[in-house]
Amino acid sequence: MEELFFKSAEDLSKMLTQKSISSVELTQIFLQRTKTVEPKIQAFLSLDEEKSLRQAKASDERRSKGQVLGPIDGIPVGIKDVIAEKGQPLTCASKILEHYISPYDAMVMEHLHRAGAIPMGRLNLDEFAMGSSTENSAYQKTHNPWNLEYVPGGSSGGSAAAVCAGEVPLALGSDTGGSIRQPAACCGIAGLKPTYGLVSRYGLSALASSLDQIGPFARNITDLGLLLQVIAGYDNRDSTSCNAKIPDYGQLLKQQQSYRIGIPKEYFSEGIDGEVHQAIENAISFYRKNGHSIIDISLPHTPYAIPVYYIIMTAEASSNLARFDGIRYSHRSSAATNATDIYSKSRAEGFGSEVKRRIILGTYVLSSDHLDAYYVRAQKVRTRICEDFAKAFETVDVILSPTSPTTAFKLGEKINDPLQMYLSDICTVSINLAGLPALSIPCGFSKAGLPIGLQFIGKAFHEAELLSIAYQFEKVYDFAKCFPVI
Ligand code: GLN
Repeated sequence: MEELFFKSAEDLSKMLTQKSISSVELTQIFLQRTKTVEPKIQAFLSLDEEKSLRQAKASDERRSKGQVLGPIDGIPVGIKDVIAEKGQPLTCASKILEHYISPYDAMVMEHLHRAGAIPMGRLNLDEFAMGSSTENSAYQKTHNPWNLEYVPGGSSGGSAAAVCAGEVPLALGSDTGGSIRQPAACCGIAGLKPTYGLVSRYGLSALASSLDQIGPFARNITDLGLLLQVIAGYDNRDSTSCNAKIPDYGQLLKQQQSYRIGIPKEYFSEGIDGEVHQAIENAISFYRKNGHSIIDISLPHTPYAIPVYYIIMTAEASSNLARFDGIRYSHRSSAATNATDIYSKSRAEGFGSEVKRRIILGTYVLSSDHLDAYYVRAQKVRTRICEDFAKAFETVDVILSPTSPTTAFKLGEKINDPLQMYLSDICTVSINLAGLPALSIPCGFSKAGLPIGLQFIGKAFHEAELLSIAYQFEKVYDFAKCFPVI
C-alpha cells in the first residue's frame, strides 16, 4: 500500500473530507516522517511542532463545524527559509540572520493562513538563494532522497527534497534563475515558476527583484495547481504585482487540448547529457503521437542568457543585500570598534563566500566606470531575449525543453568551480529574464536512478496551459507514483 506520507495533497484532502483521518493525525504522521528521515535528508532548518499541531487542531475544529476554508485546509506545507513568516526564524540560510525572527507575514503566508494550510517548518536553501545545489547553505547540506551522495539541486533544495522524501506534500520555493525548476527536476517532483507579477513578492527576502518569484512544489500537477491557486493574486504592497484575473487552474488543467509545441534548438546543444536528451526526445514523441504539433524554433540569444543573468542578478543582489549592515538588524561583529568596522566586520563574518563573490561582482558592474559596458549592455541583451520569446510565441503555444542539461550531480562535485555550477542554469535563466512562467515535471530516470526533468515555458499568465499540457503527460507516465527508498 502507498504510504500515507507519499500521497498527494488532493488525496489527503479527500481523506480529511471523508473524515477517515484528522488534520492532527495527518500532521503527526508528517512530523514523525520528518524526524525519521531528517538525519539523512537535512531538508529542514527548523520545525515548529507545537504550532503545527495547534493549527491542525484549529483546522479539525473548523471542519467539525462545516467551516472548511478550502482544499488545502489542514494540509502541511514546507516553507523555504527566505519567505517571512511571523514569529518564525528567517535565516535565508545565512549566518548573518542566524537569530532573526520575522515580525510579519509575507503575502503568500497570509494566503496560506486564509486557506487553512499548516506551515510546518522552514526549509534549507543556498545562502540568500545563490546556488544550484543547496551546498551554499551556512547550516547544512541537504541530500537528494534518490541517492544521498547527490545534491537535491538548488537553491530551493530543501523544499524539493522535503516533498520528494514525503516530509510534506507541498512546499513553497523561490525562483530567480531556476531555483524551483532545477531542484524539482533533480528530485523528480513538480515545480512551477509563475509569471513575474502573478505572486506577490511582499515578504520574500530579495535576491534580484526584477527576476524573483515565489512558486509551488508538489508531487503532481493537480497539487501544483491547488497551491498556485492559493498564492496567486494582486497585492498593492508589491509594486510589480499584476492585477491579472486568476483562472480556476484545477478545472483548466484537465482540459484535453492540442497545442503547438516549440522545440528550441539552442536548448539541445553540446552540454546536454545523452540520457537527458533521450528522455526529452521520448516526451516529444509522446506529444507528437497524441495530436500536438511539434515545431522547431530558435531562441537565438540563448547563448547570452548566462552572462546577462549573472550581471543583472549580481547588480540587483549587491544593492538588495546592502541592508544587512549590522546596524538596523542582522549579525553585528563583536570585534567592531567604530562605525566603518561594524559594516565591514559584520558583513565579512556574516556572509558566506558565494554571497561575497556576487556582492563584489554586482558592485563592479554597477560602478560608474563599468556601468555602460556591463549593466546597461546586459539590459539591452535582456530585451533581445524577451523579443526571442515574443517571436516564438507568434507560432507556438508552449515551448518544451530539458529543465537542466544533466541529472543531479554529486555533493562536492562542483562546489569549487562556480562557473560549472552557473552552467546548471542554462535552460532556466532566460525564462526569468523574460518574466515568463515555466514548470518542471519528471519525465524519466537515468541508469543511475536519478530523475530527469522536462520543462514547459508559457506565455505570460498562461500557467493553466502549462499545467494542462504537463497533466496530459502525467496521466500516462505517472512519475508521481515513483518513490525514493530512504
Ligand atoms: N542557480 C541560480 C543562481 O545561483 C538561480 C538561483 C535562484 O533561482 N535563486 O543564481
